[in-house]
Amino acid sequence: MAKRPFSARIWGARGTLASLSGYNSRYGGNTACVEITCGKHRLIFDGGSGLRMMGDEIMAQRAMMSEDATPDPIHLFFTHCHYDHISALPFFGPFFDPTVTVNLWSGHLDGPDKTRKMVENYMKPPYFPVGPEVFSATLAYRDFEAGDELEPIPDVTVKTISLNHHDKCIGYRVEFDDRAICYMTDTTHIPGEPDQNIIEACRDADLMIYDATYTDEEFPQFWNFGHSTWQEGVRLAKAASAERLCLFHHRPSRTDDALDEIGKQARKEFRKCEVGREGLVIAV
Ligand SMILES: [Zn+2]
Ligand SMILES: [Zn+2]
Repeated sequence: MAKRPFSARIWGARGTLASLSGYNSRYGGNTACVEITCGKHRLIFDGGSGLRMMGDEIMAQRAMMSEDATPDPIHLFFTHCHYDHISALPFFGPFFDPTVTVNLWSGHLDGPDKTRKMVENYMKPPYFPVGPEVFSATLAYRDFEAGDELEPIPDVTVKTISLNHHDKCIGYRVEFDDRAICYMTDTTHIPGEPDQNIIEACRDADLMIYDATYTDEEFPQFWNFGHSTWQEGVRLAKAASAERLCLFHHRPSRTDDALDEIGKQARKEFRKCEVGREGLVIAV
């Protein structure tokens, strides 16, 4: 039987702070947002500034449907709630469509009702003028714990692990039709001690998206910032026997030319390596 489409699309590959500028327009300045298409369904990971355009596309597709049609529920997963991963939440078009149900998933915080609290604490005066009560979509807050296996839609399994990051962070492995795409961003490493959790979670994955904020040369200066390097991504992808690697969460100051150079260097060590950029689609 032919395998159904399974792909990742990057809507924002920048880390830390949205930073569109003349020197980085090819890779883009929007922060973390990745869409994973599984057959005719989609899952969205992180709500960085790239989420706004993702929402616009969903609304454009909605406009083509008849008014009384019920759109597919949306599933939005969060790695954690640092601002570069939630900043576009109030600007996600489907939140303002009363026919839509949006499932919000998170597992990095402790305590009850944590996903709802994450949204309410972000959208709150005086930091933001209105709360999530302005949304007209149906919101379903879905809490989980790191290590849980989720089945948001039929035939799709989402496995979760805890990453090594300030304030905790979740790594995801999405399995569909015998293939796997892993989204492992906002994690650091100890030089010379490969993260066994990540290796296990990415074992034989068809695609591994990894936190490549720094280079190994820069790392000693930033070892406690909670991020990793493209070289560590290559080492982990090899150890996990991953098929492809996508470098992600670029430093705000990293220029297009510097990212071109990182891609060139990385492909010498791992042939199927791409540098994440807005609009990039990787089908597995
Ligand atoms: Zn981040
Ligand atoms: Zn973070």
